Amino acid sequence: AKEEGRNTFLFYSSELTSQAFEYVLLKSALKKALDKEELFLVYQPQILLEDESLIGMETLLRWKHSELGMVSPARFIPIAEQSGLIRQIGQWVLEKACAQGQLWLEQGLLVGRIAVNVSGPQFHADSFVEEVRLALHSSGLPAAHLELEVTESFFVQQTDTIIAKLETLRKMGIKFSVDDFGTGYSSLSYLKKLPIDKLKIDQSFLHGIPEDRDNVAITESIIALGQALNLSVIAEGVETHEQASFLKQYAKLEAQGYLFSKPLEVADIEQFMRQASDR
Ligand code: C2E
Ligand code: CA
Ligand code: CA
Ligand code: CA
Repeated sequence: AKEEGRNTFLFYSSELTSQAFEYVLLKSALKKALDKEELFLVYQPQILLEDESLIGMETLLRWKHSELGMVSPARFIPIAEQSGLIRQIGQWVLEKACAQGQLWLEQGLLVGRIAVNVSGPQFHADSFVEEVRLALHSSGLPAAHLELEVTESFFVQQTDTIIAKLETLRKMGIKFSVDDFGTGYSSLSYLKKLPIDKLKIDQSFLHGIPEDRDNVAITESIIALGQALNLSVIAEGVETHEQASFLKQYAKLEAQGYLFSKPLEVADIEQFMRQASDR
């Protein structure tokens, strides 16, 4: 049956454009993924560079389809966003992450915050604040252990509604970080108006550091901007010792990347947290 499936794929992909086919195929598979329990979360540690202490982790969604195998979020998240499925999936992620966080808290393992990625359509829904409240309430996780990652595109329009939403959630104790910072098209002026807490330097700017002078200049500018605006800054996609030792010169800079750890499944991140607390 597996062979047949492959042939069918080849046949159709020559008829339709492969992109249109992929959209239809993945969308219908994704619809079933939640019920079939094919989605799960992995967790990537975040550290404070100056002493390499653990400060939290980012939750990343994984999808293991029975026949397609692992499907990357880079492929399925855009489809989930276009089809509207992201609202249901995003809520599942939020609830799952909060429940897992509360479990770790009870076990004395949780350090700092669990960061959860939020999509535009999810954040902009009227019910978003209530949905976050529900995830916290049903899990019992204190809001002080939750961080939400949003992107600059959320703030292209600086409406009062968006600001009010951020303020409500921050008053509860949730922190907000701006993901992929520097890659969006929004103006910098939004930074001084919006109630946010952290900038995540996009990993593309880390490439070739410290040799790449342009990337060094951009990275240093973002760090300076964060300091000037009293925001935390985290560098993501740190892969080499050279990058880390260059970044270490900046006080309070945080980091995340394969150098410290890949995103880990539950048992492995638990071991990571245990080792971190032993140090
Ligand atoms: P992102 O939020 O910017 O996440 C960072 C991505 O970089 C993750 O890819 C992570 O595995 C990867 N990464 C971490 N360290 C390194 C490193 O040192 N080097 C390199 N090259 N990559 C590193 P992943 O897990 O494939 O996720 C891709 C994107 O999918 C995420 O980008 C995010 O935009 C989206 N995504 C993932 N999970 C969720 C989710 O639960 N909800 C939403 N809305 N989006 C998600
Ligand atoms: Ca992220
Ligand atoms: Ca990012
Ligand atoms: Ca991204």
